[in-house]
Amino acid sequence: MIKKTLPSVILFISFFLWNNPEIYAQAFNRAVKTSENFEPAIPHPDQEKAVAKKLLDLEKKMGKKPNIVWIVIDDMGYGDPGCYGGGAAIGAATPNMDKIATEGLRLTSTYSQQTCTPTRAAILTGRLPVRSGLTRPILSGDKITANPWEDEVSLPKLLGNAGYNTLLTGKWHVGEIKGMRPHDIGFDEFYGYYSAPKEISQGVDTHRYPDLTMNEDYMITFNEIRTNPHLIHGYKNGSTEEISEVKSLDDIGSVDQVLTDFTVEKIEELAKSDKPFFLEHAFLKVHADNQDNPNYPGLSKAKYQYKNGVVEVDMHIGNIVKALEAAGVLENTFIFITSDNGPQMDAWPDAGYTPFRGAKGTTFEGGVRVPGIAYWKGMISAGRQSDGVFDLMDLFGTSLRLAGVSADKLPNDKYFDYIDQSSFLFNDEGESNRESVYFWWGKELMAIRIREYKQHIKVIKAQAPHMWIDYATIEDVGLAPWTFNLYIDPKENMPVGHRRTAWLATLGSQLKVHAATFKKYPPKQIGL
Ligand code: CA
Repeated sequence: MIKKTLPSVILFISFFLWNNPEIYAQAFNRAVKTSENFEPAIPHPDQEKAVAKKLLDLEKKMGKKPNIVWIVIDDMGYGDPGCYGGGAAIGAATPNMDKIATEGLRLTSTYSQQTCTPTRAAILTGRLPVRSGLTRPILSGDKITANPWEDEVSLPKLLGNAGYNTLLTGKWHVGEIKGMRPHDIGFDEFYGYYSAPKEISQGVDTHRYPDLTMNEDYMITFNEIRTNPHLIHGYKNGSTEEISEVKSLDDIGSVDQVLTDFTVEKIEELAKSDKPFFLEHAFLKVHADNQDNPNYPGLSKAKYQYKNGVVEVDMHIGNIVKALEAAGVLENTFIFITSDNGPQMDAWPDAGYTPFRGAKGTTFEGGVRVPGIAYWKGMISAGRQSDGVFDLMDLFGTSLRLAGVSADKLPNDKYFDYIDQSSFLFNDEGESNRESVYFWWGKELMAIRIREYKQHIKVIKAQAPHMWIDYATIEDVGLAPWTFNLYIDPKENMPVGHRRTAWLATLGSQLKVHAATFKKYPPKQIGL
């Protein structure tokens, strides 16, 4: 009897679920909602308990909260470091990153936003750029109607209140007017540049920009609207000093050396303080236009300036970690190394390598899947690797956890998209607590990833090879959303469509659940 009725019961259940996507979504989606304005996380009570003990034991041993160091490389491709398949194999060896990855945790499903400013805003607010309004770089001529930082609670502000010293060295790119600078939004100290290298160097680069630099009257106008070409040193509630101006290509080629020397010196000072510290070191390289460090011309085997930049950045990373070791704080410092988006293929050959489809400016994997190396001597076991999904916004929640800042310090009139990933990163067998990653392009909701499935409802299409930003369009998909199984098709070329995945409805309905959060928590408009 049972044998006879079982198949029809299964058939009935399957049919019922297919016609009720919300229930279908619940069945597949492991995340649990615990609060109206926080992104649901996958509960892992055992690993949660284990990490709580581990962090407590460490704090007892060290006598203070851990330091947090983020190293952000600009526009480096997923496939550039040796530990992600590149390195010496593609003419630019990265021995330091490879060593750190070998001694720590190599994440293979880390996601950024698809361009610079959105990622940098997201990691410091724990919120999607569409919520904060920082959906794209602010350009000359933009009329900002509201300072987006005015009502955002930034990570450096929260960590500062929790007793941390906070420093940003390097590229900012989230606004340079007063009120939007790093030392206005929570960092104690800022030493770096407001903009991307190309914006700074184009006024002195006669080879790449002859039409600009060799026309005197063009230069007069350009100088009125250009980004600040100075190295800035600013203090919270204190002075903002212009240190030196980029006047030559050698000057721009040297910036990462100057920035690293500063960070190395500061680490010694910060390590001596009674307070823990949060340091974000954001390289200007390897964003176009790359220019050789004059002290190390032709540093890579490939000899191309992009490749020389990769080798140089890797060398600086080695020196930053050495400085932490020399200062005796390596065992109390969580280090995370990543890139803020995929390679900018429009600038090829001054561009990185990704094995995935698309590039910077797209929500295909090539634009948003980035290296993610987590290192913490004694807290992360050597040789770990995981394809657990990690959104760079999760650095916000993980850092709050390390600093002992409770989520109830955050305003309840805002939606927070981060997940605390401490139990994933700091347990040997830890699994990701994030179920869904949502992909936005400006104000357009584009795609979702759950487990190994990714579904696009809008896509960026390049009108010529590599032209993902300068010659691209945004399009709706047709009757069926473009759905890919990233395990069998990491290049997103073979849609499984409505024919070959049972989870089509699940992904679609989860996109609707996400979109619905904007009804109660509307996106902020800042005039971009
Ligand atoms: Ca970037």
